[in-house]
Amino acid sequence: MTDRVALLGKPLRRRHSVVMHNAAFAAAGIDARYELLELDADKVDAAVAAARGPGWLGLGVTAPYKRLVAGLVDDVEPDAETIGAVNNVVRRHDGTLVGFNSDAPGFRAGAELAMGRDLAGAIVVVAGAGGAAHAVVHACLTAGARTVTVGNRTPAAAAALTARFAGIGTGSLSSAALDDDRFRRALAAADLAVNATTVGMVDAGATIPVEALPPEATVFDLVFVPAETPLVAAARARGLRAANGSEMLISQAAIAFERWTGIGGMAGVMRRAVAPLLADPTARA
Ligand code: NAP
Repeated sequence: MTDRVALLGKPLRRRHSVVMHNAAFAAAGIDARYELLELDADKVDAAVAAARGPGWLGLGVTAPYKRLVAGLVDDVEPDAETIGAVNNVVRRHDGTLVGFNSDAPGFRAGAELAMGRDLAGAIVVVAGAGGAAHAVVHACLTAGARTVTVGNRTPAAAAALTARFAGIGTGSLSSAALDDDRFRRALAAADLAVNATTVGMVDAGATIPVEALPPEATVFDLVFVPAETPLVAAARARGLRAANGSEMLISQAAIAFERWTGIGGMAGVMRRAVAPLLADPTARA
């Protein structure tokens, strides 16, 4: 019997996960398939329940169900609980489901690769206070970042994020509005500036004024469609190190794959498989 993993979300416009996971199943010689399951909120409960059955390895979870699914599985791992979002689920042999978050370690891998150093001791500025920003800030704090400043268009959401994570790690954590002077001052000292908003993909606008960054700073944009986001282009034009979110996407997928199958080291297979899609200028955001 072919085993299954399904990605729950709505809408599901992108095929990046399908391509990466199915290439990894093929390379590992595992008879399994990863499929998209676009469904309304009232069908999510039944889809999660079905994944307790034989033949299921687990689930992927994307917007807008990362919070909802956390309440439907049997256990949620502590990091995912703290972050407040489950982006993958693994089925144990006894049929119980465990929710976990691979965005946070995926971000850490992608950002450290882009910086050419680790996050320990880093001064980090993050734009955004949504689900992805929660994973980013959690990863920075647990990796030992020295300071993390969170700026958001809606400052109350940034303040709520920092209140939620108070006490994690040894670094200092503060919040600001994106257009606040404090946010700009934080950028002037940043080792790493992260865009964790939807700006650059579905939303137009700007989050990080690259001219405010020091020359040794790295810019990391979680957005990966288009491949060269306006922020990445602006950072490169200023001579800064810059990367889009594609390595985070690949790393978080490889982490999830290992949890479902026990097989690690699939990032290279996934990277090769998804490269044409990442480079496709007509791929839909
Ligand atoms: P989300 O929960 O909907 O949060 C959206 C964030 O974007 C909020 O902070 C929102 O600010 C901000 N925002 C939206 N429009 C804006 C604008 N015009 N100006 C300034 N800020 C704006 O979304 P999410 O799940 O966190 O995802 C954020 C991005 O990360 C998406 O592009 C997603 O594709 C990407 N992502 C990438 C990876 C990867 O592997 N590379 C993984 C996860 C997510 P307000 O609070 O003011 O509305």
